[in-house]
Amino acid sequence: MKYDYLIVGAGYAGSVFAERLATQLNKKVLIVEKRNHIAGNAYDELDEYGILVHRYGPHIFHTNSKEVFDYLSHFTEWQFYEHKVLAALNGELYPIPINRITVNKLYGKNFQTEEEVKNYFQSVREEKTIILNSEDIIVSQVGRDLFEKFFRHYTKKQWNLEPKELSPSVCGRIPVRFNDDCRYFTDTYQFMPKDGYTKMFEKMLSHKNIEVVLNTDYKKVINDIKFDKMIYTGPIDYFFDYMFGKLPYRSIRFEFRNFNQEYFQSNSVINYVEPDVDFTRVSEYKYFTNQKADSTTVSFEYSQKNGEPYYPVLTEQSKSLFKEYENETKKLRAVSFAGRLATFKYYNMDQIVAYVLKNFNNLI
Ligand code: FAD
Ligand code: UDP
Repeated sequence: MKYDYLIVGAGYAGSVFAERLATQLNKKVLIVEKRNHIAGNAYDELDEYGILVHRYGPHIFHTNSKEVFDYLSHFTEWQFYEHKVLAALNGELYPIPINRITVNKLYGKNFQTEEEVKNYFQSVREEKTIILNSEDIIVSQVGRDLFEKFFRHYTKKQWNLEPKELSPSVCGRIPVRFNDDCRYFTDTYQFMPKDGYTKMFEKMLSHKNIEVVLNTDYKKVINDIKFDKMIYTGPIDYFFDYMFGKLPYRSIRFEFRNFNQEYFQSNSVINYVEPDVDFTRVSEYKYFTNQKADSTTVSFEYSQKNGEPYYPVLTEQSKSLFKEYENETKKLRAVSFAGRLATFKYYNMDQIVAYVLKNFNNLI
């Protein structure tokens, strides 16, 4: 059997490419996936207590792109869900992103208007002519105290780096609000797939032109497969046998625990922003899906250096090392690189879908 495309990885990047190639161009596609399931890091499944959990941590879909939303809507119905996060500090819970409620509660203020909050930030913020890193981007908006309390230690735990060592885009993902809006995202479309992410991927990949082989590292089989082109969505340094050295990817150990009570905590996600707690955040899955059950499952996240690569660690050094790999990719005509690990970008799910749809259009 000869395939038009060999795709490495059955996450968003690999699966959306496969679906487009099969349905729009009638191409024969083989997906090789090293894990024992499809859906990449968005994989969800019922745990032994019957609770739908995200095996690789909380995945909340949000996008401003109508194109992305319409595209995914072919494979799933949706359930409305607007995400909120609370930060645990000194035994109290505060809204994150920092907003008027956060400031009023923390400092005993009574700001009523957005203007008052803006003026407050103006009085404590540090002027920066150039934003060089993740510390600059936060202190230049909300000042040092809020940075120390909500960002410094959480970031150190998550990345094992000080915020000043990380690209501004990392902490810059979190906005600052002047009003009482406690939503984590303000995107136009905020939904969870009604029957979960894995079911959505099953539908996306169910096509006669798409074959999926699980439990297989592509390097073990590549010499036995006949194909014209390849799309690679795994870690880029692995593809090139680490020829320039290892790129830093951050991993997480997820500790899942079930409690025989209706709910464990008062909110879907609580971030532990203090240094004396080892884990970064605790997610309670029933909140995402509105599932009703007598027991509840939560995951504690412990960030770690080794293990499955989940996050590209974005520093000046890692970005220039990535450039060296990126230059190598330009020498390869029959291989395209896509996705969070291969392009070494801190992409959300919708950004991957948008990237693939755009590149697919360029391809044809
Ligand atoms: P992946 O999902 O990583 O898929 C790559 C696939 O390639 C994997 O299945 C892997 O096993 C496979 N692979 C790798 N190497 C090989 C090999 N050698 N051979 C065969 N197969 C291989 N995004 C959001 O929009 N909202 C969120 O709330 C959100 N929360 C997140 C929380 C966590 C803890 C993490 C880690 C990510 C989160 N994301 C979130 C980001 C989201 O997971 C990614 O944007 C998306 O899954 C990336 O898709 P991908 O296809 O690029 O990569
Ligand atoms: N962050 C923080 N405190 C918080 C939330 C986020 O310091 O309460 C920083 C931290 O460095 C984190 C980054 O902002 O890694 C991005 O946060 P996000 O919630 O987007 O992380 P993800 O959901 O991708 O793990």
